[in-house]
Amino acid sequence: MTGKNTAASKLNDGEEVLFAQIIIDISHEKVDRPFTYRIPRSLVSAIRPGSRVRVPFGVKNKERTGYCVGITDRCTYDPDKVKEIIGLEAPGPDDEETAIKLALWMKEHYGSTMIMALRTVLPARKAVKPLENRTVVLKSPPEEIPALREEFFRRHQVARLRLLESLVRIPEQPFSLITSKLHIPPATVRSLEKKGILEIRTTTQLRNPVNAPSEYRREGHSLNSGQQAVVDGVIRDFDNGTPSVSLVKGVTGSGKTEVYIRIIEEMVRRGRQAIVLIPEIALTYQTLLRFYGHFGNRVSVINSSLSDGERYDQYERARKGEIDVIIGPRSALFVPFPRPGIIVIDEEHENSYKNENMPKYHARETAVALAGLKGACVLLGSATPSLEASYRARTGQYRYYELAERATGQSMARVHVADMRAELMAGNRSVFSEQLKSLIDDRLRKKEQIMLFLNRRGYAGFVSCRACGHVMKCPHCDVSLSWHRNGRLMCHYCGYTAPAVKVCPECGSGYIGAFRAGTEQIESLVLKEWPGVKVLRMDADTTSTKNAHEKILSAFANEEADILIGTQMIVKGHDFPKVTLVGILMADMSLNTGDYRAAERTFALLVQAAGRAGRGELAGECVIQTYEPDNYAIRCATKQDYDAFYTEEIRYREILGYPPVCHMMAVQVQDPDEDSALAAAGILREAADSCGGMIRVIGPSEASIRRIKDIYRFVLYVKDTDYDKLIGCRNALEEAEEKLKAEPRFKKTAVQFDYDPVNPY
Ligand code: ADP
Ligand code: ZN
Ligand code: ZN
Repeated sequence: MTGKNTAASKLNDGEEVLFAQIIIDISHEKVDRPFTYRIPRSLVSAIRPGSRVRVPFGVKNKERTGYCVGITDRCTYDPDKVKEIIGLEAPGPDDEETAIKLALWMKEHYGSTMIMALRTVLPARKAVKPLENRTVVLKSPPEEIPALREEFFRRHQVARLRLLESLVRIPEQPFSLITSKLHIPPATVRSLEKKGILEIRTTTQLRNPVNAPSEYRREGHSLNSGQQAVVDGVIRDFDNGTPSVSLVKGVTGSGKTEVYIRIIEEMVRRGRQAIVLIPEIALTYQTLLRFYGHFGNRVSVINSSLSDGERYDQYERARKGEIDVIIGPRSALFVPFPRPGIIVIDEEHENSYKNENMPKYHARETAVALAGLKGACVLLGSATPSLEASYRARTGQYRYYELAERATGQSMARVHVADMRAELMAGNRSVFSEQLKSLIDDRLRKKEQIMLFLNRRGYAGFVSCRACGHVMKCPHCDVSLSWHRNGRLMCHYCGYTAPAVKVCPECGSGYIGAFRAGTEQIESLVLKEWPGVKVLRMDADTTSTKNAHEKILSAFANEEADILIGTQMIVKGHDFPKVTLVGILMADMSLNTGDYRAAERTFALLVQAAGRAGRGELAGECVIQTYEPDNYAIRCATKQDYDAFYTEEIRYREILGYPPVCHMMAVQVQDPDEDSALAAAGILREAADSCGGMIRVIGPSEASIRRIKDIYRFVLYVKDTDYDKLIGCRNALEEAEEKLKAEPRFKKTAVQFDYDPVNPY
């Protein structure tokens, strides 16, 4: 018999045979699938997932090294034709061992294939060319600086002045950082070069993405008692051989970064390395410089603008011990340090720590798993910790520290709330409350800057007919098309575009147009209310081209505008010392996204937005405009009271059995045929029900967007306090899925699992 899915095969003497899934060339670009090998009887007890083995491979049966990624008693091939493992090899490079173990954990924990997990944790080896590196070096002697400063100031050449000041502090700086993070236009740098004030030096470099200003050294502050307690606590746990996971809750400016740096220094002293995760959008030039000031060329950065080669080189530098610290987004977790001692996750609450592709891992859990493998500590930091982190801190799984005040003694912004219902009743029909208007007047008079934050996902409005109500929709997705500046209509889910419509395709009326309540509309309302005021707008529309993001920020930093209007993307990271007023329009918009994290997301966003005001010497104010001033997320954000928010929110999660109190597995079932999708989801629901125990199963229900790219989507939710039970349930569902797939009508059905999802389905 040569059938597929042969059940446990027996040898002639009736003894059971085991097979191993072997991946050849683990770090090769083309790792694609495991091969099945028979385990010789003599090795049955020795081979485990993660073992390194020698196997015959290819037509010529050349001997190769492979890794075992799974053991099974089934073989989908003719068992007689399966080749046999030759022998066990000595353990391989430590980073490969770790990667395999971590990938195995991911596969189990998140339900992905081993290959996908391996591709995530193990970067493909790639050949790379050397890179050109440009730095900017100050040429003018110290005695000429005051005159230059005077001249730039007099001519209001803000960018030149800032560049000069920066170079006075650090006389050699990477060109790319000056243009990107310091927001200086390249033309400005070049014109100062022509004047002989500075020089642009080009060297070929072995791919260090950010060339540290070598002379720059920075002394740490002497820590306050709150900061010292965190450093002492983490280091004590580490030295005691009981590495811990700790959460430090501290407002922006409370000195968390200082704490990270100090702990990393202690680790480096102990021969250990550090991984620092910071959401890319929040990683400012100033923060980078601080790390360079302490670790010089022993720190490196990973970000999305690195080429594959540059990225790979950072892995190489880490592997070879050339660097001690890596800073980057969630993928920086997989930088193969030999002995990491600390993994820091800053802005721990950020959604970007969740990978939304397979494997759908969360950096927080993955960091804890990795730390467990390597004997490292984990430190989470945030002003508004995720419910997960707070809950675990309060239930004793994490250590908890709090930094209650700004390290510099600066006060937080004063927050006002404007009840837009009351405004309307009082006859104010504008989108700006009276208080916001008068504060804007005040700031414009004082020449201070303002940020207006529109809490609204999406920007261009949908296009509808005012005569019959017809809405222009994507023919492939269940979403309305968005109107674009260039006049075309576009679907953000599949990229479908259509020409603008002048006449309603339903009723022929000419009254069809874009319903706009986005940043663009706010911009025109601002210009109507304050004619002549200089406005910059930052949203998905104005940032679609390369570097547009940086250009807008640099223009604002250079005080080329009085008001910056934008969506979520203006909230994160950037410090504009001249901003003393933040207006939040439609604060409650994100409360209505229909998922269990809506309040948490809204609260964090509002607290962060408020934190944008008053980051320099000047005190800040913030106005939150809302139709739901009594909603607890808004109320607590107004008072900037995290604990009150947590108390209410966790009660709601407890009652409804949502994470972090319960774990939740989302099972998404997709099929091009709607009936098949629903039927498959129903069958999976039955399989989930029969898992028994205390598991709660909900659904199937339509996903929040029922159809994307002509694929229908249904969701089941399975909840339990015990994560392992959810894994057990997933295994049952995977078996059910396999059976389904044998039926022709479910041939195209796809099932995806997601644990403790952070975005609505
Ligand atoms: P966070 O990371 O929490 O936003 P930072 O570490 O960036 O806070 O600190 C905010 C500011 O306070 C920085 O300018 C930093 O140099 C300064 N600072 C940090 N710790 C101290 C301290 N112990 N004494 C004085 N200033 C400090
Ligand atoms: Zn119509
Ligand atoms: Zn579409």
